[in-house]
Amino acid sequence: MIRVDTRPRKRNSHRADAERRFPQHLQWLRGRPCLIEGRAGHVCTGRMEASHSDADGSKGMGLKAHDFTAVPLCRGAHEEKDRIGLLTWQAKYGVNHAEAGREYGRKSPHRARWADIDGAPR
Ligand SMILES: [Zn+2]
Repeated sequence: MIRVDTRPRKRNSHRADAERRFPQHLQWLRGRPCLIEGRAGHVCTGRMEASHSDADGSKGMGLKAHDFTAVPLCRGAHEEKDRIGLLTWQAKYGVNHAEAGREYGRKSPHRARWADIDGAPR
């Protein structure tokens, strides 16, 4: 008899998630201007945050996207993105969250941290 385990995969998720976290990069991002500052009349509000895209294909099995695809957003921009949805938000401001995130990943002073990860920004 073949048993199929239909429970959500949890065993490796903690470790897999830890490999996607680069706290120093996120701290650096929070020191950058908001990605959409001045676009489509956006006025920044609140503190700076690091925003993760959930539509770049790297999120799956309950894992949050890699930190190296995050972008800096003020709290107001971050909340609006979550409220109206990524695609609508991107169209409104003329930005691509995933592409912009990879560009920040390339410019990060901490990019050596993900040098050995396949598909990471270089
Ligand atoms: Zn803003």
